[in-house]
Amino acid sequence: MSKKNTAQCACGEIKFEFDKDPDFVAVCHCLDCKRASGGEAATFFGVQEDDFVITRGKPKAFHYTAQSGKGLDRNFCPNCGSRVFTTNLESFPGLVFVALGSVDSPLGIEPKLEMFTKRRLGWADPLDLPQFENMPE
Ligand SMILES: [Zn+2]
Ligand SMILES: [Zn+2]
Repeated sequence: MSKKNTAQCACGEIKFEFDKDPDFVAVCHCLDCKRASGGEAATFFGVQEDDFVITRGKPKAFHYTAQSGKGLDRNFCPNCGSRVFTTNLESFPGLVFVALGSVDSPLGIEPKLEMFTKRRLGWADPLDLPQFENMPE
């Protein structure tokens, strides 16, 4: 039986699942997220490693050092290039950060905060959520 939440890359080569709806859901405007996602911001959320299962395919991981100096592995589909999740987060041990856009039914997974708002571009309006200039404390 599949878990409550299912997710995949754009081509369907990579599929993964998790049960628990996330508590930490962030819209991040940092330069790393802009560069890696190709957009103004990235929306992602934390899933406990032991609730996270890859059910199809083998993502390719790119090890990356964020501007914070902490390491992480950005995982993407080797076939279509979609960014799907981030693992081995030195700053958040035990968590996988999942890209919101990969979730099949993201209803109910809504951002709780915006962070690195100092990098928000002028045309992007703040959401009606707690705002953090940098990383939330
Ligand atoms: Zn793919
Ligand atoms: Zn970021």
